Amino acid sequence: MNKIEHIGIAVKNLDEAIKNWETLLGAPCYKKESVASEKVDTAFFRTGESKIELLGARAPDSVIAGFIEKRGEGMHHVAFEVDDIRAEMKRLSEAGYRLLQEEPKRGADNKLVAFLHPKNANGVLVELCQSIEGE
Ligand code: ZN
Repeated sequence: MNKIEHIGIAVKNLDEAIKNWETLLGAPCYKKESVASEKVDTAFFRTGESKIELLGARAPDSVIAGFIEKRGEGMHHVAFEVDDIRAEMKRLSEAGYRLLQEEPKRGADNKLVAFLHPKNANGVLVELCQSIEGE
């Protein structure tokens, strides 16, 4: 895996959180995007080579709403950049890791993404992401 591409943070109120993180990082939000399939709104910030992704629920049955209800606001996942997501998924699944999907799916920020079960990473939800070329 190449680097930490971003850290995802679950927030209750995305607009308020964007203002907060713009001040905290001293950098503007450069992209807002909705992931309809997950019922999630996202907002991205650059911080050096890595990014921060804020995640807000679009609906009460969104995975983010469920996460906040159980655990409160805070760190939701760590995303690692990979060159070949299918190869990494195969490598990890053969090593006994449980993936939350069999095929990579389209995530925010022009990425193919796949998640590993937190039980396999000491309680941390791990996202693999590969940039989609040419977009
Ligand atoms: Zn992410």
